[in-house]
Amino acid sequence: MTAQIIQDIRPSVCPLDCPDTCSLSVTVEGDRIIKVKGSRTNPYTNGAICSKVARRYPEMIHGDDRLRHPLRRTGMRGERKFERISWEDALEIVHEGFSAAIEKYGPQSVLPFNYSGPHGQLAGGSMDRRFFHKMGASLLSRAPLCGAVKGAAYASLYGTSPGMPVEQALDSDLIVIWGNNVTVSNLHFTKVIQSARAKGAKVVVVDPKRIRIAEQCDLLLRLQPGTDVVLALALAAELERRGRLDISFIEQFTVGFDEFMAEARRYSTDDVVTICKLSAQEFEALVQMFVGAKNIATSIGNGIERGRSGGSGLRAAMALQALTGNHGRRGAGVISKQGLAAPKTTDKLQRPDLVPDGTRTINIVDVPELLLDKSYDPRLAAIMIYNHNPVSTHPNQRQMVEALCREDLFIAGCDIVMTDSMLFADVILPAVSHFEHDDLYGAYGQHYVQRGVPAIPCVGEGLPNTEIFRRLAARFGYDDPIFKESDAELMDAAMDGDDPRMQGFKPSQIPLDRALEMTAQDGGELIMCDTVMPTTPSGKIELFSSDLEQRFGYGVPRFEVVEQTRPYVLITPSSTKRTNATFGGCEESRGLEVLELHPDDATANGIKSGDVVTISNDLGAVALEAFVSDAVRPGVFYSPKGPWFRSSPTGMTTNALIPSDIRSDIERGACYNETFVDISVGEVQ
Ligand code: SF4
Repeated sequence: MTAQIIQDIRPSVCPLDCPDTCSLSVTVEGDRIIKVKGSRTNPYTNGAICSKVARRYPEMIHGDDRLRHPLRRTGMRGERKFERISWEDALEIVHEGFSAAIEKYGPQSVLPFNYSGPHGQLAGGSMDRRFFHKMGASLLSRAPLCGAVKGAAYASLYGTSPGMPVEQALDSDLIVIWGNNVTVSNLHFTKVIQSARAKGAKVVVVDPKRIRIAEQCDLLLRLQPGTDVVLALALAAELERRGRLDISFIEQFTVGFDEFMAEARRYSTDDVVTICKLSAQEFEALVQMFVGAKNIATSIGNGIERGRSGGSGLRAAMALQALTGNHGRRGAGVISKQGLAAPKTTDKLQRPDLVPDGTRTINIVDVPELLLDKSYDPRLAAIMIYNHNPVSTHPNQRQMVEALCREDLFIAGCDIVMTDSMLFADVILPAVSHFEHDDLYGAYGQHYVQRGVPAIPCVGEGLPNTEIFRRLAARFGYDDPIFKESDAELMDAAMDGDDPRMQGFKPSQIPLDRALEMTAQDGGELIMCDTVMPTTPSGKIELFSSDLEQRFGYGVPRFEVVEQTRPYVLITPSSTKRTNATFGGCEESRGLEVLELHPDDATANGIKSGDVVTISNDLGAVALEAFVSDAVRPGVFYSPKGPWFRSSPTGMTTNALIPSDIRSDIERGACYNETFVDISVGEVQ
């Protein structure tokens, strides 16, 4: 007689670093995840999810790389030699490692080295922050790795007010998709675009590559990477020359028009041709699109921020909305930062009041350099890598590896699977996935709040981040009741359950079959300069930002030339196989990653599709498989981000070629797109 296999369908929410935060439906058999599909709980994501989550999560949760027990390193750093130990021993090792650093150099010698692996409020940053704040560890500014530049650009114009919900683009007659590969990293927007087009909307795509959504666009502008600010400023100036700026809106809702336009008027069609490498006809077509439109929505991705003039490019592109009066009604606005509508109470959750006065803050992009800096005072002597795979995601991979190999550095690691970064840890604490713990989810690309519960028990001896840090707090003797709060209490600390937008639900009690739609304070739709107003110091859209002027000298957007030191520019945008580096260990990501190059560049170098090629610069050399395609512009190479070492015969991935010393104009963000390389056929030995 065969035993009956019982399957169950359970609700979940995708926690990955992706704007969409889909509601999920998980098929469970026993204690195993069998299938992951989209659910209709969230009306925006409405049952559809990306293929990587559908295909790769079961493999990640139950595959060979899964960390099931605490481990202690027994070999050299990076050598993949570990032995199983008990939780008690693992916590003891962390206590000893951190205590030794604190005794020698003080608490700021300890650094939490975490990023945005999971986006749930609990796993992403709750008990862990309380723990490190209480310890007095160095603070980490995480967003300069990705998101800080766009966040600061947006905030300089609108403050903390939420942007336009994606669905409103149904009412737009022109949708501008600027530096945002929506098919890969903003999937559900594509449906809205298709519906808007069916109603007659036009679509403009600004991107160095003919991304998939460009197949449906009316105008594709494949500009030179890093020159967005020139295109946006030249467009502002040209629209002014033609009397197409909305002076009445500008007077009522903005400040800094004169300063902004003084910079914009420096650019003309000629600059668009020489700097952006677009034709005059293409620029004229863009001008005509703006002139002819009555309701423009602009969706701006994170691609623009990855260059020296990234902050300026973002600010200038967003500012076009205000200059043309495209706010104050449904379907007009900047599609961004909708998550700001959720009533988050982050200070209550993370307790920054515990941080000792004078504690330093470290820019995440600076971490490897500071780890290697013997004069950095107090010296960094102990780190904890969690929610992060720095080896696979930071610029200058070789420097990162060198830093993590520092013999006198104590490294505690914590992850769901054995990543390239975990290989360098002295001790590894096994974390669990969102399928195995409770959490609360806002989103950064839509305006719903959702709750998730475990779909399966914790795999092996893995624990949720919250419990790991509860245990660490207990081991360190932190006996304040805040270190004993349950996950439900943490959820209730993460958002204000009394806020009317929570519709009467405590965060820990949001029904699992509901996604709460966030609205304006009056319950109305989110519409900038109507139901929500800018929360900048002036209360207006700040085309000139005193804050950015004071902190960085960029009160208005400005183009900075970066000398191109090698013949080709490498860009590394989102992958269809991975979310950043998540899923990088899965079957599909093994073997050589692809390098797309234009036929002209292929011919000039004797390359054909399928050839193994090596791209290189002073920082390293990486082998990739060539794919010849006119989707990329001549002179620009494209390779998806986030591969792991196992894809690379040279022991380096494309991150090895990305410089860490070039930084964005505002927030000193990483400049992934300022990567200049040579190419040769074959694999460098
Ligand atoms: S990665 Fe993005 S599109 Fe894919 S399931 Fe998660 S939230 Fe949805």
